[in-house]
Amino acid sequence: MPKQTVIGNWKMHGSIGQIRSVVPELVRAGLGANVALCVAYPYLALAKSMLSEAESAIQLGAQDVCEYHIGAYTGEVSAGMLADVGCEMVIVGHSERRRYFGETSETAARKVRAALDAGLLPVYCVGETLTQREEGIARDIIAEELQVLAGVPTSLYAVAYEPSWAVGTGVVATPEQIAEMHAFIKRTLNARTRVLYGGSVKGENAGQVLAVDGVDGVLVGGAALSATEFLEICREAG
Ligand code: PGA
Repeated sequence: MPKQTVIGNWKMHGSIGQIRSVVPELVRAGLGANVALCVAYPYLALAKSMLSEAESAIQLGAQDVCEYHIGAYTGEVSAGMLADVGCEMVIVGHSERRRYFGETSETAARKVRAALDAGLLPVYCVGETLTQREEGIARDIIAEELQVLAGVPTSLYAVAYEPSWAVGTGVVATPEQIAEMHAFIKRTLNARTRVLYGGSVKGENAGQVLAVDGVDGVLVGGAALSATEFLEICREAG
């Protein structure tokens, strides 16, 4: 069985010191290319040089990217720049970007295309809020969020199903909820797109989540900051 994917999303956490302590531990554990680490922009180059020096297969990713390729866009970082510093992938449309920075699915779709143009793997996040789930419109929301990628070959990106009520809350979606939504996403895309689950995945629940039908991996936030916890999750992924 192929190994499942584990992506660590450090969000706006970390420091040079933390990169220097966590990365070598992950390297020593011999993690492969099914594992990726997404750290904040200032630490990408350092993480890359440490991974390369150790000849590690662990992938490097960013947590966002600009939709434009180049130009007078103060404060932005292009997909080409991410590729230049050694990123292989980028998270796009995370629920925190949507919620706190007004990112729309349309913008996220342009970012997916920009990432693909630079040769990066986009990991496109979708997910409903608790209210939307309670209103019974979770599937409609996911369908809308996927719709913007129509025309993009489904083999070129991964999807992360991250119900925002499970992200950073300690509440994990149930195996039934995860199975149902992953099946829905795969049916909607009508393809072999990799679909990851994200939302309060920890060492203690990773095995259960990864065992759910249709789960190709996990996107891990808080628990990715501790090497011990992250390694526990990676072990569950095969
Ligand atoms: P969490 O975050 O694991 O801290 O819930 C997941 C994510 O934001 O990708």
